[in-house]
Amino acid sequence: MHIDGECFCRAVAYEADLVSPEIGLCHCSDCQAFSGSPYRATVEARSSDFRVTRGEARAYVKTGASSGRSAQYFCATCGSNLYRIAEGEETVGIRIGTIRQRHQLTPARQTWIASGLGWAQDIRALKVTPPS
Ligand SMILES: [Zn+2]
Ligand SMILES: [Zn+2]
Repeated sequence: MHIDGECFCRAVAYEADLVSPEIGLCHCSDCQAFSGSPYRATVEARSSDFRVTRGEARAYVKTGASSGRSAQYFCATCGSNLYRIAEGEETVGIRIGTIRQRHQLTPARQTWIASGLGWAQDIRALKVTPPS
């Protein structure tokens, strides 16, 4: 599946052909801190099928609980989480919030449940406030 995306301020844009449209959710504490949210949602592309088409993302290299060294790419201007490249891997993990076709992607698996926020497993019953 071909996708493209850009950060909030549009300084950085990219395109990719995904390995599959399947989304992986990660509830690890690193993902919570980087995103400021309960979990991160990511799809995978081979490195050779991913390219930045505008601007340049900044990288922060983390050594965290969920993996080895992993470069976390973000927009240096607006701070949007964009993608990660883990050391020794030949794939790019793209954060779905910046993908234009994100409504066509499908959640397929989740990991690091033990460090997740339990309520994030079921939000359907929450009261909906405008805008819906
Ligand atoms: Zn930006
Ligand atoms: Zn994680």
